[in-house]
Amino acid sequence: MHTILQNLLKLQALDFGEATTKTTEAQAAELRSSIPAPIIGHYERLRVRGKKGIALVRNQVCTGCHMRVPIGQISMLMRGEDVQLCETCGRYLYLPAATEVEAPSQVEPPKPAAKAPAKPRKRRVTAPAV
Ligand SMILES: [Zn+2]
Repeated sequence: MHTILQNLLKLQALDFGEATTKTTEAQAAELRSSIPAPIIGHYERLRVRGKKGIALVRNQVCTGCHMRVPIGQISMLMRGEDVQLCETCGRYLYLPAATEVEAPSQVEPPKPAAKAPAKPRKRRVTAPAV
C-alpha cells in the first residue's frame, strides 16, 4: 500500500477513535506532518464535515458511497503507485490487506548484463507422428 494511504488510515483511526489522549494527539500531529499538504487538506475538509476521508474498496465498490470503483483505479491501487480518489464521494481509496497480498510485486529485478536471446519461446504441443 502507498505510504501516504497507510498514514492517512492511521490518522483516521486516531481522529475517529474514541479515546483522545495526549499520546494520540501527538501521533496524529506527527502523521499529519508526514502527509503532503494537498492530501491532508482534502482529508481535513471531509473530516470537518464528519466524513471519513479514506474509504475501503470492497468487491470493487467504495464503502464510503457504495458506488462501483473503475477497474483502472483498482489496479492503480494494487500497484500502489499513487493515491486514488473515489470519483463519486471524493474519499481516498484503499484496498483490504488480502487483495494487497494477492497483487503481484511490481518491483523489477535488476537486468542481467548478458543479453538473452530475443527469441520468444513458444511451447507448442504437437501430436506425435504415428
Ligand atoms: Zn465513494
